[in-house]
Amino acid sequence: MLKKLIRLSSYPLILGICAAGIILLDFHNDRLWPWSTLIALAGVLAVGLLERFAPFEPRWLQTQDDVLTDLWHNFINLSLIQFASVVLFVWTDSVPTDWRLWPTDWPFAAQLLIVAVILDLSLYVMHRLSHDVNWLWKLHAIHHSPERLYWLNGERRHPVHALLLAAPGLTLLAIVAAPQNLIAIWFAILTVHLAFQHSNLDYTLGPLRKWLGVAEVHRWHHKREFEDAQVNYGEFFMIWDRLFGTFYAVERRVNADELGLRDRTFPRTYWGQLKYPFTTDSHARSKA
Ligand SMILES: [Zn+2]
Repeated sequence: MLKKLIRLSSYPLILGICAAGIILLDFHNDRLWPWSTLIALAGVLAVGLLERFAPFEPRWLQTQDDVLTDLWHNFINLSLIQFASVVLFVWTDSVPTDWRLWPTDWPFAAQLLIVAVILDLSLYVMHRLSHDVNWLWKLHAIHHSPERLYWLNGERRHPVHALLLAAPGLTLLAIVAAPQNLIAIWFAILTVHLAFQHSNLDYTLGPLRKWLGVAEVHRWHHKREFEDAQVNYGEFFMIWDRLFGTFYAVERRVNADELGLRDRTFPRTYWGQLKYPFTTDSHARSKA
């Protein structure tokens, strides 16, 4: 009964409560920091806790020398994106005023949707390029290195790659003078979504899984066979995969030993993973 409840309601309930909390906070306070971050972290922790009760794959509950490394990835990358968006918006003061095309008189929900769509498309394009362009793949391979998926994997990325993924969308939003609070709201919601997307939680979104990048479709993207992983790139919306022909309707569950890279000697420490893209044979080792 509990497992069924978790399976059907955890995503809409936790993501919904976190999103509503962050948006209400924005309506009643001038500053989102640090409460929006704390709400997002509570959402991520809830995913981690629920995994213990209803795991998708019980064998993935066993740590693989990865928790400390992933905590570092989360801390560094979430801080970096926050810092980058603040710096970018200081710079926009020098952008000509006639470039500031943001529709400030549109309803809040419509403005938030524009932010979400621009950032999501940017993430999709950069993610797809990261599989095709060799030097980008060297940076992105870190994200594909886990041999189990769990709540902390969403932010396992090289910090340079985390910045590159968000850069086009963030720059465009800064140029058109999108309100900074909307970007902070969307990144906080996305943080909770990414924990779900990579979680070892047995949950389902039913037919909606064809439209949102939840674990049911995203686990396939982490398959060890590089050829299999060229689908389901979407971060939040699956609309880009469907439009550009990279959507794959997953028909069977991914098995416990099917994840990771062909290179089974991938470094496990944070520092080792930071250095990995700059080792001479890293591209060949991770794809071949
Ligand atoms: Zn990928």
